[in-house]
Amino acid sequence: MKFTELAANLDKMEATRSRNELVRILSDVYRASAADELEPLTYLIQGRLAPFFEPVEIGLGQMLLITAIAMAYGAPKEEVIKLNRQAGDLGLTAQRLAPASHRESPSVVEVHQRLSQIAAAGGAGSMQKKLDGFTSLLGDVDSVSAKHLVRMTLGKMRLGIGDPTVLDAMSFAKRGDRSLRPILEAAYNRTSDLGLIARTLWDSAEAGLEKLKVRAGHPLRPQLAERLPNPEAVIKKLGTVGVQPKYDGLRVQIHKEGGKVSIFSRNLESMTEMFPELVDAASGLKVQSVILDGEAIAYNPESEEYVPFQETTARRRKEGIQEFAARAPMRAFVFDVMFRDGSDLTPMHYEQRFEIVKELVRESDTLMTAPLMTTDSADVLTRELLDNISRGLEGVVAKRLDSPYQAGARNFNWVKLKRNTSGQLTDTIDVVLLGYYRGKGKRAEFGAGALLAGVYDGDKDEFVTISKLGTGLSDQGWRAIHQRLASLEVAEKPARVNSTFVPDAWLEPAIVVEVLADEITPSPRHTAGMTGDGPGFALRFPRIVSLRTADKKPEDATSVREIREMFEQQRQPGRGRSG
Ligand code: AMP
Repeated sequence: MKFTELAANLDKMEATRSRNELVRILSDVYRASAADELEPLTYLIQGRLAPFFEPVEIGLGQMLLITAIAMAYGAPKEEVIKLNRQAGDLGLTAQRLAPASHRESPSVVEVHQRLSQIAAAGGAGSMQKKLDGFTSLLGDVDSVSAKHLVRMTLGKMRLGIGDPTVLDAMSFAKRGDRSLRPILEAAYNRTSDLGLIARTLWDSAEAGLEKLKVRAGHPLRPQLAERLPNPEAVIKKLGTVGVQPKYDGLRVQIHKEGGKVSIFSRNLESMTEMFPELVDAASGLKVQSVILDGEAIAYNPESEEYVPFQETTARRRKEGIQEFAARAPMRAFVFDVMFRDGSDLTPMHYEQRFEIVKELVRESDTLMTAPLMTTDSADVLTRELLDNISRGLEGVVAKRLDSPYQAGARNFNWVKLKRNTSGQLTDTIDVVLLGYYRGKGKRAEFGAGALLAGVYDGDKDEFVTISKLGTGLSDQGWRAIHQRLASLEVAEKPARVNSTFVPDAWLEPAIVVEVLADEITPSPRHTAGMTGDGPGFALRFPRIVSLRTADKKPEDATSVREIREMFEQQRQPGRGRSG
């Protein structure tokens, strides 16, 4: 496939307001592609050159791209900057400046190769090499291609396609319907690599997908926890449970493969560079290959206290990692193992996996086993919960002892119990910002009045509204958030957003905000959980608690299914007695 053909399809995807259309167009692209094009194509449409967990970056930021555009099209840099300010999108800017091209378009594979060479350029003079490489690539493509090429390089596709849309498109391309989605999803949960899945499906069909197994070096999607309102409900539903402290840090998946250690975040990005002390500790594990799951948290060796989540994540900035590691070193509490020396351990019972964790993780100051106690008593569980809260932890996670590790699933194998604020919702909700209202008076000065917020419907790959947010931020907080909103503004409602509200400005779903509310109530206007003529759900008295952008993608926001469950739980008698 020529790159120009892909770009024309990306244009169609950008223009549509319908999710079904998105799937249809993308499935056409898959159908028209040759086997060796599937991987590059899949990564490029995600604004990547490789799967998310591989830390391959093109390494050309906004300013360098501006220089490349100026060089490629013989325009003064100031003009590019000015146009970009007007357009608010560097892709559009490139498209406007690009002359009509009559050259033959390079292929998708060639573009991917050339971008990969640019990414690989390192050492002295590498910036110049990257610039030259990109300038020449821009010179070889037409204007619509230039737009998408620039967006790919920035990693901002503005298409609104999430993983479920890509999986649906593959299923449609092969079968004409969604029937392959479950098997595709299962393979994705084990491998986290959409490109690999596309190629495998085309090369060796469903049987090939079944053979894609968990392996060290490739993150699997983490098992997630469900909620229940109180210890009584947990014991009633799960019977005997294993109970662990719930640490408020960052989820880490630690992989060791021979001498190589990699660490991945909850959303599967590589964090290996960020945690040198965890890498050291994992290198010392007496095992050839292993995948461990745990929670990393920074602690202050002097006060022997854990450092709050916000500070733990401050390490994301590349500078000062060593300094951070000295001042607030990381500890990882390991609570699971999914793979060891060539064997997939995910089908094993948790009890057995935890025994292996204890065997592998000889206590050190850095890698520790998360303590596990077993009980079938609601009283004991309540005591554990209160005890952990009083020690400054978030709460506990109760685990079904005979459960397998279900990659990517949120179910009752794990249940989280947190501090309970007397009768109110037991947990915060993670919402995605979908739009904003300009507001009046002081608020207008900050640039944003109320925010329109939504949750995620994973089945439909759609964001649905649940609330307007107007409280919880300081003046400075509002100013800061508005600055971030500006770059996410889009002219029309994104295809994946389903809303009856029309805010003053729509946003590309990207920012996740943690919200506390008093209650979930039925709502005739909000689309979260709306069915045919049944009402949706809304939040009562919502207030912003924190901006959780560091570790959550929009698709990691609270799901409609969770909201429905929280709504049901609210009505159960006896809620809110713990904590
Ligand atoms: P939440 O993010 O509120 O859905 O809670 C689940 C998260 O709690 C997991 O993704 C982990 O990052 C974190 N966590 C902390 N301690 C534990 C533990 N002992 N077992 C499982 N997850 C834990």
